[in-house]
Amino acid sequence: MSDTEVDQRRSDGSLRHLLTLEALSRAEIERLLNKAQTFVRPLGVAPPIGDGLRGVTVANLFTEPSTRTRVSFELAAKRLGADVVNLEMQLSSRTKGESMLDTVYTLQSLHVDVMVIRDAEPGVPGLVAANVAPHVSVLSAGEAHVSHPTQGLLDALTVRQYKRRFEGLSIAIVGDIRHSRVARSSFHAFRTLGAPDIRIIAPPALMPADDEFAGCARHTSLTDGVRGVDVVMMLRIQRERMGQADLPDADRYFAQYGLTAEQLAHAKPDAIVMHPQPMNRGIEIASDVADGPQSVIRDQVRNGVAVRMAVLADVIGSRGGSIEGDD
Ligand code: ASP
Repeated sequence: MSDTEVDQRRSDGSLRHLLTLEALSRAEIERLLNKAQTFVRPLGVAPPIGDGLRGVTVANLFTEPSTRTRVSFELAAKRLGADVVNLEMQLSSRTKGESMLDTVYTLQSLHVDVMVIRDAEPGVPGLVAANVAPHVSVLSAGEAHVSHPTQGLLDALTVRQYKRRFEGLSIAIVGDIRHSRVARSSFHAFRTLGAPDIRIIAPPALMPADDEFAGCARHTSLTDGVRGVDVVMMLRIQRERMGQADLPDADRYFAQYGLTAEQLAHAKPDAIVMHPQPMNRGIEIASDVADGPQSVIRDQVRNGVAVRMAVLADVIGSRGGSIEGDD
């Protein structure tokens, strides 16, 4: 399926779809983060309940596995009063030969307003967005290795909560950058918000192409790469996007690129540790670091619901009316 260029905005400039962060300005990203922050509650406290999306139907169409993203889109929509339908796409008509677009047209006829799409093939969210009726919004929940915009936003929100600013920050993104949609979207968010020093750290085989991640320092040594950074963002090895022959040996990988307490000691003493999950403990991160005092991984999950509430409220609210959280 080829990439389809779609304008994410309506003619009045408001956000209709969220397919990629690339087209968003710093002000738009900050508006979404500010909105998300109004929905954030301390860990263990549920986000507020509102009815701003009452009468709106959100469909989750996921053809790749997902735990956090799917559940948090569902919780976000329900918290705002929407109805939610979850399609198990592997089991649904798509495997009977019905094309994605036919599924989408069916949902549209059933009055679905928001389609949340995850697919392993590049271009699918854009293709759907280019073909839906004007009242439908399409939100990407992860497009192949290409982008994962709500993850980029929740990562930026998490950094902002701990570091308060992006100016002057050093951020290390570590691991399978080549196949990671999270690395691409989070890099874009951090850069747009003003982070001056973003480093990517990976074995040569997992480095992205030379024309990607412009302006980032590239390191093949974890020790060198994390030296003095404020944020260490670890990534999962994307087995599903590699051939068996390309898979690194787990023990060797952990020895060279696994984040241990010893390696983390090269970062700033107050550096935070992030991981989008699912985590391979003992391969890309040591358990004591994942669960340790510098880990903000649980905040990331909590922030995922708040960010998805903000995005849903933004694309629907900007159709008319306003949807507010509070502090
Ligand atoms: N959950 C993230 C994603 O969907 C990260 C990962 O799977 O490694 O991309």
